[in-house]
Amino acid sequence: TSFQDFGLADPISRALQDENYHTPTPIQAQTIPLALTGRDVVGIAQTGTGKTASFALPILHRLLENRIKPQPKSCRVLVLSPTRELSGQILDSFNAYGRHLRLSATLAIGGVPMGRQVRALMQGVEVLVATPGRLLDLVQGNALKLSHVEFLVLDEADRMLDMGFINDIRKIVAKLPIKRQTLFFSATMPKDIADLAEQMLRDPARVAV
Ligand code: AMP
Repeated sequence: TSFQDFGLADPISRALQDENYHTPTPIQAQTIPLALTGRDVVGIAQTGTGKTASFALPILHRLLENRIKPQPKSCRVLVLSPTRELSGQILDSFNAYGRHLRLSATLAIGGVPMGRQVRALMQGVEVLVATPGRLLDLVQGNALKLSHVEFLVLDEADRMLDMGFINDIRKIVAKLPIKRQTLFFSATMPKDIADLAEQMLRDPARVAV
């Protein structure tokens, strides 16, 4: 497999050339074609396997297929991640793969004042990468509504559960449109994680590396 085989939009392909990506990693080779069809995907993959690109690339491609202006105080793509550090890395990846797109992407993480995040969300963003607690604070403070989310990613779901985010995640998912694409990644798949995935995804394809 090569990245050309996926038929990604030209600005995305050019960004991959800029990044010197030649060959998709195994999780990318499996996930990208499935996600491009619009299916939900559950992926079992560790950090370092290239899983960030396996969700970011097909989502960017699908965003471009229908490039609409985000609604104020909304996002089109919501990525939930367990930590501030991982959230920052995911945002950096979206910005790198979206460098030729004028992508609007921002972070909503705890431990920093809310004001700047509230202002960044005012006009709406295409991609929001968030930790669950801060995301709910923004929703409860009316800085963000989740009714226009088209793509949901859960990254490192097992770590989010270990960190006690399960109730926050359930509250967030309850506010999302039913009609959306969900991509769910975890390094491990014990029963509680599999049950969560079962509740959140619709007829998912399963991939593992
Ligand atoms: P991740 O597992 O998403 O944290 O990615 C691990 C590292 O691999 C990151 O530094 C990526 O930039 C890099 N990477 C991901 N996919 C590829 C690829 N297909 N070719 C080369 N490097 C990659």
